[in-house]
Amino acid sequence: MGIILACCIQDELSNWTSHLLQWRTVAKWDILPKQFQEETFPAGCDLFFPEKKEMKRPGYKRILVTGGAGFLGSHLCEKLLRRGHEVVCVDNFFTGSKENFQGFFNNPHFEVIRHDVNFPIYLEVDEIYNLACPASPVHYQYDPIQTTKTSVLGAINMLGLAKRTKARIFHASTSEVYGDPLVHPQKETYWGHVNTKGERACYDEGKRCAESLFFDYVRQHALSIKVARIFNTYGPRMHPEDGRVVSNFVIQALKGEPLTIYGDGSQTRSFCYVDDLIDGFLRLMGSRDEFQGPVNLGNPNEFTILELAEKVLEVTGSSSKLDFRPLPSDDPRQRQPDITLARTELGWQPKVPLEEGLIKTIEYFDALLKASNRLTHVEFGRGNRRKNLANRRLTRSGKYKIGEGLTDRRRGDVDRRDGNGENATTSSMTA
Ligand code: NAD
Ligand code: UDP
Repeated sequence: MGIILACCIQDELSNWTSHLLQWRTVAKWDILPKQFQEETFPAGCDLFFPEKKEMKRPGYKRILVTGGAGFLGSHLCEKLLRRGHEVVCVDNFFTGSKENFQGFFNNPHFEVIRHDVNFPIYLEVDEIYNLACPASPVHYQYDPIQTTKTSVLGAINMLGLAKRTKARIFHASTSEVYGDPLVHPQKETYWGHVNTKGERACYDEGKRCAESLFFDYVRQHALSIKVARIFNTYGPRMHPEDGRVVSNFVIQALKGEPLTIYGDGSQTRSFCYVDDLIDGFLRLMGSRDEFQGPVNLGNPNEFTILELAEKVLEVTGSSSKLDFRPLPSDDPRQRQPDITLARTELGWQPKVPLEEGLIKTIEYFDALLKASNRLTHVEFGRGNRRKNLANRRLTRSGKYKIGEGLTDRRRGDVDRRDGNGENATTSSMTA
C-alpha cells in the first residue's frame, strides 16, 4: 500500500514538474509574436521572468529607487536595468512622470509602485537609492511643508527599510546644504551658510536633517550608507516647467521668447550633464564599505547665468532677447564643487562639456515642443547653430541695464515671510 502511495505521489510530482517546465517554455519570449517581443523586451533583455539561476547570478540585485519617475531617478532606473538588475521604483508622481519610463516601462525587471515615501513601505531589497524629493525651487516651494516632510520622514522610512533588510542605502543630498556659501569652491568639510527661515529652507534644512539622520543610523545601527551632495544637473527628461535655469533658457530660446535672467546674471552655477552624474551615483554605491561620504558630485566648470544664456543662444541659434527680472530671495551668489574627494575615492570626474550636453538637452526639448504641437520659433538642428552675435554684443556692451528696476532681496533685504507671520501656503500635497 505504502509503495503504491509513494508511486502515485511521485507520478503527481513529475506531472506537476512537467507542467511547470511547459509553462516556463511557453513563457519564454522567443515564441511570442515578433511585435510583442519588441515592445516588451528592449535590447539586452531576453527573459520573460528572471530565472532562479539569474537571480543567483553574482552581482544581481533587487534595487529600490525612490523618486524613480523623476529626472535623475528615471535615468538611474534605466542604467540599473541595463546592468541587469531588478528595479523597483517608488514614486508619488508629484513631479515625476510615466513618460520618463518610455523605452523601459515594459521591461519585466522593472516595477513601479505609486507611493508617498512619507509613509512606511515594506519591500525586500538589496540596495536603496533615496531620490524622492522635488529638486527645483518652483516645485519644492509649492508646498514647503510637504518638502520638509519628504526629506525627513522619507529618509526615516527608507533608513528603517534599509535597517530591516540590511540593504546599502544611497542618499541624494544637495549642494544646497552649503546655502549661500562663504567658502568657494565648496569642499565637503564646509558646514554651510543657510537661512533657516528663508524660502529655500524647506529644501536646504530638510536635506541637512536627512544627512544627519543617515549618519545617526550608522552610529546607532551600523547601516551601510552613501551620501552624495549633488550640484546643478541638467539633461533630457528635466521637467519642462520646473523653472530651472537650463530648462527655462532652452525652452525660451526654442520658442523665440525672451530669456529670463534673474538679478544681473552674475551669480554662478556649475552644470553637470546627467550621464556623468549617474555614473558618479553608481561608483559611489559600489565604493568601499568605509567610504560613506558626503561627497560632492557635480561639474567643477563654473559659469555665470549670463554666460549660460549666451551659450544657449549660440547653440540654438535663437535670436531671443534677454529679460532681466528680480532675483528670488536667498538665491546663492556662487556655486562650484570641489570634487577632489570624488576624484580620489571614486576615480570620478565629469566628461561631458557644457556645449555637448546642451545640444542633447536642446534636442530633447525641441522634440517635446514639437510633439506638444507648440510651434518652435527656431528650427533647431538644421545647420543654423550659428552664434547670435547681436545678443552677445548687447550683453557685453552692458546695453541691458544691469540690475535696473530690480528688487534685490537676496542678501536679507526683504524676506517675504518676515513680519508677515507664518507662510500660509498649503495645498493638497500636504499630508
Ligand atoms: P525630480 O523632481 O525630477 O524628481 C523627484 C522625484 O521624486 C519625482 O519623480 C517626484 O514625483 C518624486 N517625489 C517627490 N516627493 C515624493 C514623495 N513624497 N514620495 C514619493 N516620491 C516623491 O528631481 P530630480 O532632479 O530628479 O532630483 C532627484 C533627487 O536629486 C532629489 O532628491 C533632489 O533633491 C536631488 N538633487 C537634484 C539636483 C538636480 O540638479 N537635479 C541637484 C541636487 C540634488
Ligand atoms: N535663473 C535665472 N533665470 C531662470 C531660472 C533661474 O536667471 O529662468 C537663475 C536663478 O536665480 C539661479 C540660477 O539661475 O541663480 C540657477 O537656478 P536653478 O533654479 O536652476 O537652480 P538653483 O538656484 O537651485 O541652483
